[in-house]
Amino acid sequence: MKKIDLIITELSKLYDGEKGSLDFTTPFELLVAVMLSAQCTDARVNIVTKDLFKVANTPEQFAKMNIKKIEKLISSISFYRNKAKHIKECSIQIIENFDGNVPQSMEELTSLAGIGRKSANVIMLEAFNDCQGIAVDTHAHRISNRLGLSNESDPLKVEQDLLKKIPKKHWRLMNHLLVYHGRAVCDARKPKCEECTISSCCKYYKSIKNKSRSL
Ligand code: SF4
Repeated sequence: MKKIDLIITELSKLYDGEKGSLDFTTPFELLVAVMLSAQCTDARVNIVTKDLFKVANTPEQFAKMNIKKIEKLISSISFYRNKAKHIKECSIQIIENFDGNVPQSMEELTSLAGIGRKSANVIMLEAFNDCQGIAVDTHAHRISNRLGLSNESDPLKVEQDLLKKIPKKHWRLMNHLLVYHGRAVCDARKPKCEECTISSCCKYYKSIKNKSRSL
């Protein structure tokens, strides 16, 4: 079996059916949640947005809101000042450029303040059920490097490597498989390699085995 097929087959057994873990009821709520989730856990974001969206959950409401008030509402989130600025700027852009609706293309989404390709991928997939690529977050990045699917350090280049190696029909699935495996098994500091079902095709695992043999 080809390496990529083995990875998809084994990870599907563990995580097929898993969905994104950010809570939202509208595309705009997801956009805000995705913005807040940069370098922050989804669990923390869900706690904050539960109250935040009771106060405001539309571009019009955030565009009118004082920036200090937005900061206060999201103050338990990492980089909250920058994120508050982006929420306000992005809300104004959505009203002025897209009639108040979250745009539905990668190009338009990435024109918004605070939205890069990773966030746009998540919004296209989760809000509009349209898979445009593979969102490379910290988990997908780490696992791709460890497995040897990409040696790149720039997430955009990692995604390009993944898109070349993974058949398009599996892109949707891979968006979740890499993230869930990163959270459950392939931890950043202490990967649980001995219980990992894809260790046989992992470059990192082979290298630590070779090192321990040579000691
Ligand atoms: S073998 Fe270890 S490093 Fe490789 S994917 Fe599994 S947990 Fe991660």
